[in-house]
Amino acid sequence: MEKLENQPCPVCKKNTCTLTEEEMDVPYFGKVYIFSMQCSNCGFKKSDVEAAERHKPVKWSFTVEGDEDLSVRVVKSSEAKVKIRGIVEITPGPDSEGYVTNVEGLLNRVKHRIEASIEDEDDPEVKKRAWKHIKKLNKVLVGREKLRITIEDPSGNSAIISEKAEKSKLK
Ligand SMILES: [Zn+2]
Repeated sequence: MEKLENQPCPVCKKNTCTLTEEEMDVPYFGKVYIFSMQCSNCGFKKSDVEAAERHKPVKWSFTVEGDEDLSVRVVKSSEAKVKIRGIVEITPGPDSEGYVTNVEGLLNRVKHRIEASIEDEDDPEVKKRAWKHIKKLNKVLVGREKLRITIEDPSGNSAIISEKAEKSKLK
């Protein structure tokens, strides 16, 4: 792992940012670089992942059907759009992150995002819907319910590594 300390922070402009770059081999996908940036002054954090090889724009679909699907590897770049049917759509943007995880990790991230979004929510209807989604995710996370996940990535830097995952061209 390479590490660069005391770099300028894009947010607070102080030289308090630490950059790290890590290489990882993802079976059936290839080598990826994981970049991260963290500022000790203002708390700014950002991470992304890039494949060493060029990949074409891609759409991945995967149905989580049980326990064993939770450990399926997922590579998600910051340019990817993640759709979880009936629950949420995560679109790329300035605070979109890239990471290498598994289905369980991805669903937990989504769950935490929903939980954080209702902390200051006053609308009972919005809250109710959010709790329904959290419950659904909890059931999927213990292998009791199915869920369809789609990842669309124009950069091609994303993947769902499973024989069951469907890969298609991104239109
Ligand atoms: Zn900063």
